This record gives sequence, structure tokens and C-alpha cells, in this order.
Amino acid sequence: MQRLLAVGKPSKYYFFLFIFIYFPAMLLGCARTAKTPSTASEIVRRRREEREKKVVEKPSPKAAEAQPAKQVTATESQPPDPITLGFLNEEGYQIVPVMVYHDINKDAQRSTDVSVNDFYEQMQYLYDNGYATITAQEFYDSLTLKAKIPAKSVILTFDDGYKSISNEVYNILKKFNFHAVLFIYTDAIVNHYGAYMTWDEIKQVSQDVFEIQAHSKTHAADIPWQRPEETEKEYLDRLDKELLFPKKILEEKTGKPVEFLAYPYGSYSDQLINLLRDKYKYKGAFTVIGAGVGEGADSKDTVAFGSNSFFTDPFKIRRIQILKKTSFSDFIKCLQLFKQEDVFDGKTLEKFEAEISKLK
Ligand SMILES: [Zn+2]
Repeated sequence: MQRLLAVGKPSKYYFFLFIFIYFPAMLLGCARTAKTPSTASEIVRRRREEREKKVVEKPSPKAAEAQPAKQVTATESQPPDPITLGFLNEEGYQIVPVMVYHDINKDAQRSTDVSVNDFYEQMQYLYDNGYATITAQEFYDSLTLKAKIPAKSVILTFDDGYKSISNEVYNILKKFNFHAVLFIYTDAIVNHYGAYMTWDEIKQVSQDVFEIQAHSKTHAADIPWQRPEETEKEYLDRLDKELLFPKKILEEKTGKPVEFLAYPYGSYSDQLINLLRDKYKYKGAFTVIGAGVGEGADSKDTVAFGSNSFFTDPFKIRRIQILKKTSFSDFIKCLQLFKQEDVFDGKTLEKFEAEISKLK
């Protein structure tokens, strides 16, 4: 436990605080005077005692999901209520699916394309079923206990910066009053690659629909690793260009902070994460789950690995690829919002401790 306390990263620390201090303290009815339990098994023991006494009213996951979905805005942020964070209850906890799209166009010829018709149908489903589309910053605020997110939260992300974002996607999202995250690789914009947006278009879509974030400068596949022919200094200089330049220019062009990265190809290393956090001052980063969903992919596993909870590492936020081959029913399978798991069972607590200790 001491080791966990020494981890020092805010989200882990708060998770620790939540599981080991707030929760048992609240069960005892007085957060200030409750003794801090010394071990996980002590918490489980107390929890079981409370259960037997039936002191605690348990909210059901269905009740949590039934809450009306609405957009969280900065002005609505309130000090968090730890007991409802992540909708953690006796049945399990909330999970947040994060989708990644690339180009949305009429013909959807490449495997990573999605047709406008399919995309519209997916957004209509989210709207009809009361989903709330949150931003990277809002999800981060929930991880660090600054704000709560709606029970039916989902994050829509778009990589690279294709022109279809301003031509098609912007209007569709605006129609449904949705928000999304756009990860731009800036060489495509600076060098005026034909299929990509202009600075004016990026600025325009950033005003009310898209949160603009970084996706590196060149979209190179080997950003996480030093090349054999490179000295360490050359590698660090390369990283300055890949990670600092896009942050600066995107902030300058949109007038808004850029604090999250989508790793090109979803690839990262421990060294890259340390530099992102400590040197380049990013708050978090998004990866990609390789297989995607649909024909030939194991949808069940992809969904499990593509979802994120309140104890997710902010530098390993997992995304589910929505591809040309993703059927409508597979899209719906991706929208799992609650993980059933007996959090107060000793094994689960051990598993959480192991998860946390893996994170530096
Ligand atoms: Zn990309």
C-alpha cells in the first residue's frame, strides 16, 4: 500500500484514496472520524459486515443508466461525489467506449473509411438512445475527480484531419448537438495535402463541435523508439518536432489548449509516455485496439479492451476502430456502458492493486 501511495500520479492516487479511504469511511457514516483501514482485506471485511446489516442502499446499474444524458460543460462541473464516481456500485462500474474514425465519405473505398450513410445511421442511433458525447478534457476531468460524466457517455474521435470532417461530419454532429475530438497530424495541413483540411476549416469546426488535439507532426510509425542510426540527442530532437510543434501550432491556430495526443498507429513506449507527461506537458494520450470489430474480428474481446473506466491510465486510453466493415450491430455491441464485476470481492481488489502497481 505504501508503494501505491508513492505512485504520485493524481488519477492513481485518487483511485487509491477512493477505494481505500473514502468508500469505507462513508460506509462507517462519517468520513472525518473513520479510521483508515490498513489493508484491502480489512475493507472487504467491513464491506461484508455492512452488506449483512443492509445499511447501504444500493443503486442499480439500470438506475444509473436511466439518468438523462446531457453534455457536461465547464460551468456545470462540481466537486465530485466519490461514491458515484464511475457509477461504482455493488454490481460493477461504468465504462466509457471511445470510437476512432478516419475518413467519412460517400464510397468508403479504403478499409478505414466509413460511408456517410453508415456514419449517419450510427449517430442517429446515439441520439435516439440518449448517449452523451464527451470530449477528451471532460473524460480526463472525470479521471482526476474534477467532474462527473453522464452514465451514457461515449467519446467520438477522428484521426488525421480529412477534409470530410468539415464537409460532412461537422454538419451531422452539429445537427445532433454532438461533440467530438479531432486529432490532427500537422504536416498534412502545413503542406496542403489535397485530402486534408485547411487551417480556416480547422478553426471553424473547433468553435462549436470539435475539440482539436494532436496526432504528431509527420505521423511516423517509430515515434516511440530511438532509431539504430540515431544518437539519443537526435532522437530527443526528433521528438521535440513530433510532439511540441503540433501542440504549439494547433494552439496558435485555434486559440485553445492542446493537451492530448493520439499515438500514430496507436504505438507507445514507457519512455514516450514519461516525456509526454513530464517534458511536453500532455495530460493524456489515446491508443487504438488493433483488430477492430466486424467480420473476422473478435468483437467481444475488442469491446472489452476498447473500453475505459475511472481507473484507466490517461496515457493509455483505449479506442475501438469503426471501419468500413463494421456492421451496425457490431457498432451497437461497442456501446457497452457498464462492467459487471464484484468490486468488493477480494480478488477484484487484488487485481486493481496489480493494475495500479503496473502504472508508474
Ligand atoms: Zn493517423
